[in-house]
Amino acid sequence: MKLTVVGCAGTFPGPSSGCSSYLLEHDGFRMLLDVGNGSTGALQEACGLLGPDAVVVSHLHGDHYLDLVTYTYARRYHPDGQAPLLPVYGPSAIHDAMIRAYGKGIDSLLDEVYTFHPVDSDRTIEVGPFEVELRRVIHPVETYGMRITAGGRTIAYSADSGACEALTALARDVDLFLCEASYLDGDDNPPNIHLTGREAAEHALKAQSHRLLLTHLVPWGDATRTIAAAKDTYDGDVHVAKPLDSYEI
Ligand SMILES: [Zn+2]
Repeated sequence: MKLTVVGCAGTFPGPSSGCSSYLLEHDGFRMLLDVGNGSTGALQEACGLLGPDAVVVSHLHGDHYLDLVTYTYARRYHPDGQAPLLPVYGPSAIHDAMIRAYGKGIDSLLDEVYTFHPVDSDRTIEVGPFEVELRRVIHPVETYGMRITAGGRTIAYSADSGACEALTALARDVDLFLCEASYLDGDDNPPNIHLTGREAAEHALKAQSHRLLLTHLVPWGDATRTIAAAKDTYDGDVHVAKPLDSYEI
């Protein structure tokens, strides 16, 4: 299984990164986790504009799904011809959210480009060669963290989440834990929305995750501080996600 970071900026795009989007490849199948605003640019570098075979959206905040709205045009009107229907798995309101984000007139176009598979509770789905366990995590809207297995390897993706047991369960013994670290330790952060670097590391430690990849850092944050806080807590391999970095898992 190969992971490529497409976009990793938290909340809004940074000067050199779009928002959350991660490409997982196995056996020639390409699954995109989240399609945050500003991520479609790097997607073209990561796998080509029409590369994805399926999409899984963690939640309906703009920095995790909004580029899927404009990506509709790329697949419908590509000069090489219309791309195959793209399966999209995501929270129960994903179809309505995309229509609202675009405005009236996109309804029929969406159905020419995507097949929607809404999810309304914890479950495990099969997406190509991937087994994807979706589990609700702590965030102000319906949000699914993920535990993804293929070819005997496993990664976990926190999505956006405050501290919770569900995250630890998803990350148990995984080969790589892709975990958000939006907040800075020491700041007066509100509860139940996001994690700091130290909190991400605490979950990785408790879950005995083999590697920790911090992501969703907010562009006005301090990556040096975030990774230092994580390394104080977790002895394993810790990195901060950067666009187009790849990891063999
Ligand atoms: Zn969010």
